[in-house]
Amino acid sequence: MAKKQEFDLYTFVAGTAIEGGAPFPLQCNCGATVTIMPPFQEDSVICPACESSIRILVVEGDPGYIIGRDSDGQPRLLPVQGSSAKPPELLSEPEREGILKKVKEQIELHEKKHGKSK
Ligand SMILES: [Zn+2]
Repeated sequence: MAKKQEFDLYTFVAGTAIEGGAPFPLQCNCGATVTIMPPFQEDSVICPACESSIRILVVEGDPGYIIGRDSDGQPRLLPVQGSSAKPPELLSEPEREGILKKVKEQIELHEKKHGKSK
């Protein structure tokens, strides 16, 4: 079977986690860990266990999560690997609901001011 060109998985990594120049253990969805060695020139790795290609997206700073959107346009919290902040799966349900509510309000405010984004 020919190798696919597109990536199987996307993951976000906190910029502060790879600034120190230490090897970074990247977690794959299958539970295996891929160690990335500095200076982190690769923007994708192959998981040795499940052979998924994982695209690495570095997020500036140390956020515990970033805001993504579901296919139906609903905001959703996506975890950031290597962050020292609380990841979304460790937030309590009310905490998570509170963040998403704030995000939705900001989106609505933005759309009222600027119109719907394309
Ligand atoms: Zn894997």
